[in-house]
Amino acid sequence: MTDTPAQLFIGGSWVDAADGATMPVDDPATGEIITYVADAGAKDARLAEDAAVQAQEEWARTAPRARSEILRRAYEIVLERTDELAHLMTAEMGKPLAEARGEVAYAAEFFRWFSEEAVRIDGGGGILPDGRNRMLLSRRPVGPCLLITPWNFPLAMGTRKIGPAIAAGCTMVLKPAPQTPLSSLALAAILKEAGLPDGVLNVVTTSRAGEVCEPLLRGGRIRKLSFTGSTNVGRLLLAQCADAVVRTSMELGGNAPFIVFEDADLDKAVDGAMLAKMRNMGEACTAANRFFVHHSVAEEFGRRLAERMGALVVGPGTRDGVDVGPLIDRAGRAKVEELVADAVERGAQVLVGGRAPEGPGCFYPPTVLTDVDSGSRLMDTEIFGPVAAILTFDDEDEVIRRANDTPWGLVGYVFTEGLDRALRVSERLEVGMVGLNTGLVSNPAAPFGGVKQSGLGREGGRVGIDEFLEYQYLAVPVR
Ligand code: NAP
Repeated sequence: MTDTPAQLFIGGSWVDAADGATMPVDDPATGEIITYVADAGAKDARLAEDAAVQAQEEWARTAPRARSEILRRAYEIVLERTDELAHLMTAEMGKPLAEARGEVAYAAEFFRWFSEEAVRIDGGGGILPDGRNRMLLSRRPVGPCLLITPWNFPLAMGTRKIGPAIAAGCTMVLKPAPQTPLSSLALAAILKEAGLPDGVLNVVTTSRAGEVCEPLLRGGRIRKLSFTGSTNVGRLLLAQCADAVVRTSMELGGNAPFIVFEDADLDKAVDGAMLAKMRNMGEACTAANRFFVHHSVAEEFGRRLAERMGALVVGPGTRDGVDVGPLIDRAGRAKVEELVADAVERGAQVLVGGRAPEGPGCFYPPTVLTDVDSGSRLMDTEIFGPVAAILTFDDEDEVIRRANDTPWGLVGYVFTEGLDRALRVSERLEVGMVGLNTGLVSNPAAPFGGVKQSGLGREGGRVGIDEFLEYQYLAVPVR
């Protein structure tokens, strides 16, 4: 951990917090402190904002090709450092090394994708209906941005925002989650090495999120907030953004339905369930939260899923052969325990798992519950852990109604071999993304995001850069 930056990154320099404060970073597999990083306060946030504001004008004028090449170089460096970055992520977040390596590749891909998009920003224009007036449209960076990221994908949630912001010509202040500051600091070092000018990216690690972010959002100099996190915090930040009419992109929580019809290929459904439930130990906004399985196949699906879940190896993410690492912290594990206890009290059967092991670390075993009562708390709470809750249904209309009966709408999974049904059901689900006979939807080339209280805007895909651009329309009368 000795080479990993541990200070704030402001104006291209590594600096301590103004008041000298530091905060610990824990290893969730042992509960031990692995290092300390700077703990920024409001003064540091203002300095980071100053740096971003000062750098904005020149950065906006940089040739798109130059911005593209910085991203391309950063993509290459991230991949070259896969092992180092994966170990860092596993140490601060807990995911098994194999998954951490997968996240490094996924995270790097956002830099490659947006290096390709930087040179394709188009405006447009034309002759207006009166035949005399012309319009010219140009696209300009929205301005200095505040990026706030969660702990569950420490690297990819950063690159998914930094990539399009750089491509669009925006400067930024990044505030990562306090549990996982190291990945973001490593990313800042890589971007500096790749040639990013001073002040374009500034990173403030802090345990005082409100104190650091609120003045920036209300102050009028930050023009855009891109937030990934829970719906409750998102709502609070939207209110703070109202004062200075700050543009927002919100990637919020989910409550994904996973629907298995009677004509589904059960091999595909169980494989899909393992991915949709167990990626990142279930700590994903895309995690399947409610399994609706047709009553005629529910018993077999539950048995097969429990067999696969029960065979997974739980342990520290650095250990060979481990499939499931610890949850992020004790509070995260306590929440999972409470949700399972509540479901069991209401009549759920535990097919496998269901009891946290003794000893250090925040481990929780892969768990399958059947006969879950639809009034259970885990039906309207993100479980954020390795727990599959199975309910049964009888017909299509009923399952669509139940799947949509939630304030969230990020993703849904549908398993059926019938094309008509696949399209019909997907179109009726109130979600931003659908996995059709697959448990994985995330891809940098696709627009990621939700409807309802799962968010506003999209990240990735052709539209990802739009979130960081404004149109300017030039009226040109021709006599
Ligand atoms: P969280 O508690 O909402 O925190 C997310 C980030 O917001 C953290 O950096 C957090 O820092 C910060 N934050 C909290 N209160 C703040 C405030 N008043 N002002 C400024 N920043 C504040 O979420 P989490 O527990 O880290 O992450 C899990 C959530 O993220 C889940 O709901 C998950 O579904 C969602 N998520 C969504 C997506 C998506 O793309 N839709 C992707 C990944 C995760 P502090 O911890 O210091 O408060």
